[in-house]
Amino acid sequence: MTDDRKTLALIAHDGKKADMVAFALAHVDVLRRYKLVATNTTGRMLVDKAGLPVTCLLSGPLGGDAQISAMVAVGEIEAVFFFVDPLGKHPHDPDIQTLMRICNVHDVPLASNAATASYIISEKAL
Ligand code: PGA
Repeated sequence: MTDDRKTLALIAHDGKKADMVAFALAHVDVLRRYKLVATNTTGRMLVDKAGLPVTCLLSGPLGGDAQISAMVAVGEIEAVFFFVDPLGKHPHDPDIQTLMRICNVHDVPLASNAATASYIISEKAL
């Protein structure tokens, strides 16, 4: 049987991981309709705390954001939920900028905070 569900990508910086878990718990029924991929720590938290099946890629600083950028570039991702911590310093800032740029290049919805994510997921825009 083929799985033709669309794929969402989820990423949260450390300062925003609690927000991501709260978002996932609030929208768990919608999220279950999609295949989910995430950077490693974010994904494991979503598995543990929201019970969602998530394919965990590399951790962001080790290339996980870059993996998701590559998937966006080839049309494999329907939308990206990327909860950015604007007050933190990130060694992988070039990868973060790349992911945002690639979403804009390919016109893929990108929610960089919980408020935008809630709008996207509740508008049934996906
Ligand atoms: P993480 O990566 O989910 O492995 O913490 C997120 C990030 O910092 O980009």
